Amino acid sequence: MDLQFTDAENSFRLKLRDWLSSVIPQLPHEPHRNDWIGRREYDSMWQRMLFDAGFAGINWPREYGGLGATPTEHLIFLEETERARAPYVGQNFVGLLHAGPTLITEASAEQKAFHLPAILKGEHIWCQGFSEPGAGSDLASLSCRAIRDGDDYVISGQKIWTSFGHTADYCEMLVRTDTDVPKHRGITWLIVPMGLPGMDVRPLRTLEGSTEFCEVFFDEVRVPVANRVGDENDGWRVAMVTLSFERGTAFVSEMLQSMELARDLAQLAKRVTRNGVTAWDDAGLRRDIGRICAELDALWALTKRNISQAQRTGLVGPGGNVFKLAYAELRSRLGELAMHLLDRASLSIDDIADLPTHAHVHGRIHALSLGIAAGTSQVQRNIVAERILGLPKER
Ligand SMILES: Cc1cc2nc3c(=O)[nH]c(=O)nc-3n(C[C@H](O)[C@H](O)[C@H](O)COP(=O)(O)OP(=O)(O)OC[C@H]3O[C@@H](n4cnc5c(N)ncnc54)[C@H](O)[C@@H]3O)c2cc1C
Repeated sequence: MDLQFTDAENSFRLKLRDWLSSVIPQLPHEPHRNDWIGRREYDSMWQRMLFDAGFAGINWPREYGGLGATPTEHLIFLEETERARAPYVGQNFVGLLHAGPTLITEASAEQKAFHLPAILKGEHIWCQGFSEPGAGSDLASLSCRAIRDGDDYVISGQKIWTSFGHTADYCEMLVRTDTDVPKHRGITWLIVPMGLPGMDVRPLRTLEGSTEFCEVFFDEVRVPVANRVGDENDGWRVAMVTLSFERGTAFVSEMLQSMELARDLAQLAKRVTRNGVTAWDDAGLRRDIGRICAELDALWALTKRNISQAQRTGLVGPGGNVFKLAYAELRSRLGELAMHLLDRASLSIDDIADLPTHAHVHGRIHALSLGIAAGTSQVQRNIVAERILGLPKER
């Protein structure tokens, strides 16, 4: 690993730190977690503040309004925003981290001119319409159909697990445009405005009682051919472009939050008493917290190694898969330990009895989704087995 901070990177850190310390204390309270409209406004406000201060689109190229930051500067940005407890990217996630980067590489000049500034300023929220009831890990099996009719595609079918589908303005969507070719070769990438006639967005309630996801149904929805990105039937390649853009930084904020959560847990253990002694007096519990903190440190080192490699070679490589797999499992153990410590209080997702239950119970439930989103743990294991261990490929 040769990740070292240059003078320029250190001064970037200080400039950002100064700005964050001047604006964070002025921010309004975050809306309630189920106030999706309020949260959209809050996320957009923060994105606009970043834009006005010149910190929006940290890893987007300068010619498209970004900062053109290196992976190391991106890491600094994530470290500093997390340290200052700045708002998370929130509902701007898909626009900034998926759709925007794809448009930068693949879209027409008109598409870029219209969409990229609106994403950077937090004016347009995007969602991702990739997964379907029969196509998740095996995404290329997707069957939502788009049939060409003059200057339009006519879309019929269903998408599922569409995060922020109920608040988004646009959807980056994969559709099946040819059923007579091998499955990867009959897919097209479309920009779909939300709320078109024939579109039905139905929020799904999660284990937490929240409605972060939606099902989206399409009944002969007409989308102009001009909204296509890339060639017809070349959508699989277009979708893969996005993956090469993040270069190891996807879970850095998460990771820093988890380190904070582990430290909070140690403090909590000193406050919780059982049979006249604090939970911290239990050597077994101290050892469990210590082990989790040590493993988080090890994963942090792996993150820096991955980013350092990405800076040198442009690719994270399978180190990214190892990280994702280990992190999802570690976060799950951290959550279990918190539940054990909180005992009956862990039945409440809202803070109760002067204990920070929300952060830990939410963290435990969130850990479940980490083993599924962005490639399930089983799929990560397959990749590690094939690409690192050289085991035979899955049939
Ligand atoms: C928090 C979160 C946000 C999401 N947001 C979006 C979004 O905005 N847009 C979107 O399109 N999708 C989104 N998804 C969906 C996500 O991409 C899928 O859930 C994921 O790809 C897994 O697909 P699946 O749910 O269909 O499970 P499946 O692929 O059906 O998997 C079911 C089980 O089978 C296992 N399995 C599957 N294939 C293999 C294999 N080859 N070898 C071994 N085991 C295997 C899996 O590991 C899993 O345990 C989100 C999911 C989560 C959790």
